Amino acid sequence: TSRLVVVGASLAGLRAVEAARRTGYDGPLTLVGAEPHLPYDRPPLSKEFLAPAPQPPEPPTHRAEHSLRAELDVDLRLGTAATGVDTAARVLHLDDGRLPYTGLIIATGATARQLPNTPELAGVHTLRTVEDAHRVRAELDAGARNVVVVGAGFIGSEVAAAVRKRGLPVTVVEMAPVPLVRAIGEQMGSACARLHERHGTDLRCGVGVAGLEAGEGTDRVERVRLTDGSTLDADVVVVGTGAAPATGWLAGSGLEIDDGVVCDETLATGAPGVYAAGDVARWTNPAFGERMRLEHWTTTAEQGAAAARNALRPVEAQPFETVPYFWSDWYEHRLQFIGVPTAEEVRVVTGDTDSESFLALYRQGDRVVGALGLNERKLVMKFRRLIATRTSWRDGLDYVEGTR
Ligand code: FAD
Repeated sequence: TSRLVVVGASLAGLRAVEAARRTGYDGPLTLVGAEPHLPYDRPPLSKEFLAPAPQPPEPPTHRAEHSLRAELDVDLRLGTAATGVDTAARVLHLDDGRLPYTGLIIATGATARQLPNTPELAGVHTLRTVEDAHRVRAELDAGARNVVVVGAGFIGSEVAAAVRKRGLPVTVVEMAPVPLVRAIGEQMGSACARLHERHGTDLRCGVGVAGLEAGEGTDRVERVRLTDGSTLDADVVVVGTGAAPATGWLAGSGLEIDDGVVCDETLATGAPGVYAAGDVARWTNPAFGERMRLEHWTTTAEQGAAAARNALRPVEAQPFETVPYFWSDWYEHRLQFIGVPTAEEVRVVTGDTDSESFLALYRQGDRVVGALGLNERKLVMKFRRLIATRTSWRDGLDYVEGTR
């Protein structure tokens, strides 16, 4: 008989079990998750969750336990880690036993990168789980005096915005010349740098962290040493230097791992019945003919569902094609990016980058490949379809012109 097993009980895993039942599959369905919690949303953890409030908000849970167990008839194994997989025997190894499968979806996501070669000190945090968010929030509630954020990516930038919203000083240290360079490119990254500066965030780009120092006779961080020889006072350090795909448990499985679980266009790994989805998956995206591993909420949700459909009907497996999309909230502003940032030209087509709203389009050859919006929610979303349908640069510009 068949058994679909999903490893990782977060967004990709949740969407996988939901989609499995929607396809009409009524066989055994198991969801294994290392965290003790029901699937919860991570985006609020670096946003609303850090705002001052008498009680920290509960992280939004997608589905109550009852509905997962009773309505979807999911065999829920929370607080259980997968430790390996025997793809020839089709058996998943768990820290408390083994689980045979006919279809397996790997949805183990990613874990926050730590600062290399630094001592473990109190006051130093990463931000990936709800426990991490509680710890960062508690530091802010306790009245942090000097917050240093390492990395001006999404999470680092959102934390900086949350700290400023509380009226506390914050310094952001970023190795690259501008924030978000890999995600949106240098030109728009510098617009984001100015956004930080306008809100009183002390942004130090082109410099890295050389070390952390504890206060005299304590194990609490007191100073951050930078690669240019300078130092920053710090009683709280939040490390936002990215996430690494959670593939350690797959060592020796024979699955191809290369910064993620390598998949074909249908999200299938090389092993029979084994698929991957979410932050852990690196697959060939037919929309761009490129191998990608995305760390975005929307793609993860779509991929979890697609992997389940394909795992249940491998013969009719469909390629998973998507135009990447993410949003990020900075100081009451919504930043959104659609597509890919590799471009020969980036042109601001509405507003200007020093104002409170603008839209920029990214051109590669004669195609629009990307769109970045600040407080341009509706317009930017239109480009998800326009980019998916391979709209030309000219037509993209005309489209924006026509909306005015
Ligand atoms: P994850 O959410 O990483 O979950 C993987 C799960 O698998 C975890 O629960 C983990 O414990 C479990 N697991 C790992 N290994 C094992 C194992 N061996 N056995 C069993 N279980 C295991 N995206 C946006 O587009 N916009 C945003 O504004 C945004 N904000 C974010 C803010 C924060 C603070 C974070 C952390 C992420 C944010 N994201 C955002 C990204 C988005 O949350 C991720 O893309 C999404 O969580 C990925 O889901 P996932 O299911 O692939 O993996």
